[in-house]
Amino acid sequence: MESTEDRKPGGPSTENKEADGPSTESREADSSAATMVKETGYYDILGVKPGASSDEIKRAYRKLALKFHPDKNPSEGERFKLISQAYEVLSDPKKRELYDQGGEQAIKEGGLSGGSFSSPMDIFDMFFGGGGRMSRERRGKNVVHQLSISLEDLYNGATRKLALQKNVICGQCKGYGGKKGAVEKCPTCKGRGMQVLVQQIGPGMVQQIQTVCPDCKGQGERINPKDRCSTCSGNKVVREKKIIEIHIDKGMKDGQKIVFHGEGDQEPDLEPGDVIIVLDQKDHPVFQRRGQDLVLKMKIQLTEALCGFKKTIDTLDDRVLVITSKPGEVIKHGDLKCIYNEGMPTYKSPLEKGSLIIQFLVSFPENNWLSKDQLPLLEALLPPREEVTISDDMDQADLVEFDPRERPYRNHGEAYEEDDEGPRTGVQCQTS
Ligand SMILES: [Zn+2]
Ligand SMILES: [Zn+2]
Repeated sequence: MESTEDRKPGGPSTENKEADGPSTESREADSSAATMVKETGYYDILGVKPGASSDEIKRAYRKLALKFHPDKNPSEGERFKLISQAYEVLSDPKKRELYDQGGEQAIKEGGLSGGSFSSPMDIFDMFFGGGGRMSRERRGKNVVHQLSISLEDLYNGATRKLALQKNVICGQCKGYGGKKGAVEKCPTCKGRGMQVLVQQIGPGMVQQIQTVCPDCKGQGERINPKDRCSTCSGNKVVREKKIIEIHIDKGMKDGQKIVFHGEGDQEPDLEPGDVIIVLDQKDHPVFQRRGQDLVLKMKIQLTEALCGFKKTIDTLDDRVLVITSKPGEVIKHGDLKCIYNEGMPTYKSPLEKGSLIIQFLVSFPENNWLSKDQLPLLEALLPPREEVTISDDMDQADLVEFDPRERPYRNHGEAYEEDDEGPRTGVQCQTS
């Protein structure tokens, strides 16, 4: 249970605007794209690699924007602005291309947006479906909360309760703040709502500062203290704790929004905004989700790769699947296989499921696992080697362990970076 700010119930509705997850193919293509960029500043702000897909950029923005939003982190306003700017550039293919080629300078000079950025709040509202500026004027603020959730919950469905603190119209005075007729012109500002302070800032120099009247908070009117509503002390609203129930349906996904309409703070003469819950899927130790599919990396021994295997897989709904390789089948490092209908359930149609894609990682034996006199026995069983002809005019070269951090490779280290995802192979479903 997380605590949050305010609200009261209206019917929750769900939104699922984004198209269903990236296909495995497009991901592969995105991450292998060339990543030569002039600077990485915006990528660093969002904590993504220059080759990041648009989904990765969206996800990074979503997490950071919610974390550093001024409502939650008032001291990080500057950071919130930078996150917004980075997202504004990287989420727009034209601006991103311009930035990749010419860096921040190109963005500032570029005619694309006249070099100016949108307000971080507008970007935030647009991203989280805050309704934009128009509706914000007549409605209270939307409140966005992130709800951390496991892959199991997205697979099986779940219900979460969330405690919200929200302002509601005072039931005692119906939002008047006191007895009817108790409202009078604020004596401090004489009804203007503003106060002018005159400050001496030097010999013979005064400065006029206009501020919101502290006694009526800019309303221009007040309720005589003796007539104030005792329940809300004349504030017209009271703070109330409200529990909302969040239903996570099977197949919902990371980033999906669940909207509780009208659950925002209540204020007299203002339509309350919405409470928007954004699902944030925690990484799973075994499965990775890719759209409707689940991806599992399975380590197998060389013996299993060559001679066959039986393995078990614990599913997200606590069943155990047994998989068996076909006799004579050789599994290569990086090979992909899949099991139909063992992926994620489809949102709103949970009986339809994606595939479970298994990527095999073959563990080879350590050095000297076999004594030298036994090697010929093994070789006799393995496919024959290719003969090589060596002549005297060839040079003998030393073969050593490769370390990308060591010279002369240092400058090109990235090109050799270890890829923990294993070899890149196109994903194909094979019937097993
Ligand atoms: Zn006043
Ligand atoms: Zn009241």
